[in-house]
Amino acid sequence: MCGIVGYIGSKEAFPILIKGLKRLEYRGYDSAGVALLNNKGELNVYKTKGKVKSLEAYCNHKDTTGTIGIAHTRWATHGEPNDKNAHPHYSQSESIALIHNGIIENYLSIKKLLIREGYTFKSDTDTEVLVQAIEYIKSRYDLSLFDAVKRTLKFVIGAYAIGVIEKNNPNCIIAARKGSPLIIGIGEGEFFLGSDATPIIEYTSDVVYLNDEEVVKLERGKKIEVNNLNDEAVHHDIITIKLELCDIEKAGYPHFMLKEIFEQSRSLAMCMNGRLNMELKEIKLSGIINHIDKFRDAKRIIITACGTSWHAGLIGKYLFEEFCRIPVDIEVASEFRYRDPVINKGDILIPISQSGETADTLAAMDLAKSQGAFIYGICNVVGSSIARGTDSGTYTHAGPEIGVASTKAFTTQVTVLIMMAVSIGRELGTLCESRYKQIVGELSNITTKIEETFMLASEIERISSVFTYARNFMYLGRGYNYPVALEGALKLKEISYIHAEGYPAAEMKHGPIALIDEEMPIVVVSPKLKIYDKVVSNVQEIKARKGKIIAIVTKGDVDIKKMADFCIEIPDTEECLTPLLTVIPLQFLSYYIARIKGRDVDQPRNLAKSVTVE
Ligand code: GLU
Repeated sequence: MCGIVGYIGSKEAFPILIKGLKRLEYRGYDSAGVALLNNKGELNVYKTKGKVKSLEAYCNHKDTTGTIGIAHTRWATHGEPNDKNAHPHYSQSESIALIHNGIIENYLSIKKLLIREGYTFKSDTDTEVLVQAIEYIKSRYDLSLFDAVKRTLKFVIGAYAIGVIEKNNPNCIIAARKGSPLIIGIGEGEFFLGSDATPIIEYTSDVVYLNDEEVVKLERGKKIEVNNLNDEAVHHDIITIKLELCDIEKAGYPHFMLKEIFEQSRSLAMCMNGRLNMELKEIKLSGIINHIDKFRDAKRIIITACGTSWHAGLIGKYLFEEFCRIPVDIEVASEFRYRDPVINKGDILIPISQSGETADTLAAMDLAKSQGAFIYGICNVVGSSIARGTDSGTYTHAGPEIGVASTKAFTTQVTVLIMMAVSIGRELGTLCESRYKQIVGELSNITTKIEETFMLASEIERISSVFTYARNFMYLGRGYNYPVALEGALKLKEISYIHAEGYPAAEMKHGPIALIDEEMPIVVVSPKLKIYDKVVSNVQEIKARKGKIIAIVTKGDVDIKKMADFCIEIPDTEECLTPLLTVIPLQFLSYYIARIKGRDVDQPRNLAKSVTVE
């Protein structure tokens, strides 16, 4: 959600900023802009509604020189997406320019004060209030830009990652963050800013992660200087990130989403690497080993997440209850954080987030932590806010996920949950040794089975072409595959804009069955399960009403195959591992339907990749 890029050094800033914005396009945005300070001391701001390509075209015959600049892709929260609301925003005298990701919650009261002081506003954004306030405080108290930013942010309620430059100050960028992500890249005589590492890694792998309420001065020829809002110096170690350029490029695939679907065997292997010993059939998760007492004493586990991660969390509930016999609540983070939930000592909260920056999940985590819960995080992005705020946790190591519709993040989250549940279950004695070995043995083979599932791609592409007419889809599943049905429906909605609902198959009779007619496609996720026969009856009910059935079944299936219009066969595996295989055909189905319909698969309308505002 929203992208921030900044550069100061000896190179021309504009090409670096534009390339950086393109690398951040995956996060979702509606407008783009750039501010550059040229060597004549002019501060130029260019911004447009639409894609980074349009910004580039708009800048074509403009002065884009300068070795210092900031750039932004906006995901509108305050004021519609248009040219005037795009960032950067100028201050009143046009001597300061600022970019911002987040929401300034008390912007109206600050705006009223500034209007009384004679300030006028050109946009409808909360952001413009911030840059005006910085200018006001700077001139009123005769402060440097660094000090003015600190003083201003003390009054700000809300979330922000900002980059600020000033006309009379061509040698420095000021940046700050609270609740929204921001990374500083440290090169040879140059500094970079990025919402994540993708615009930076081409130039340097040395980075600094700012903490909340910290402000940084990036000055030519000097060391990075970080202060908190009380003007105290803060020391940060420089961290070397392990990210390759090829990880964030399409590698010949037409879309990141397709690349990431096919990456799932590798990302699961990375996720299990060093944790699952295939010969000994053993799992060692250091986060669990070091804190097994917490799980032994746990009265309850609360899993909290949003979107796809919530679906992974729901599978987690089934896993922990089956293997660890610990009660599990699964909570949508945005509801949990505002509901005054009951949290007791002895509760373990598991926040799950691909980016580790999801605003609601982060807030839910902070709430539970403040009330004494033990926090065990599951994130993909190393060094992210959630990862840093937990007591312990496990990274998914899926590699960068660029496609907005999550694929490999989901399957690696489920893999981490499986590894956690069976390890804890074994330690607690709620999972017997032979079952443990059986499941771990099967998990060792899962990447080969995932690769077999990839072979279904062209068959699913053909099936997809049949269903582009549909305006609605229903997805049904039971047990471990009920969350998969929800996830399949979400994928389809996200990228094809076809309305889709996921249901526990037996719930169909309680309402959705009324929707079934000969036009309605129904995806039934029904591999070999304990309650397979029950699903067979559910499929019969659909057939009797002439619904079009697309079934995901285990190879060799007989009963459902007879009734389904289209049957997709996945390899046989342990029931608790089936989501890792059944979700892949659903990812392909949504991808191909969206592609055939000409949708923007990697940047679907209105969606953002990491939802850093609530
Ligand atoms: N709240 C700001 C706006 O609407 C920033 C949004 C963003 O994060 O891009 O302009």
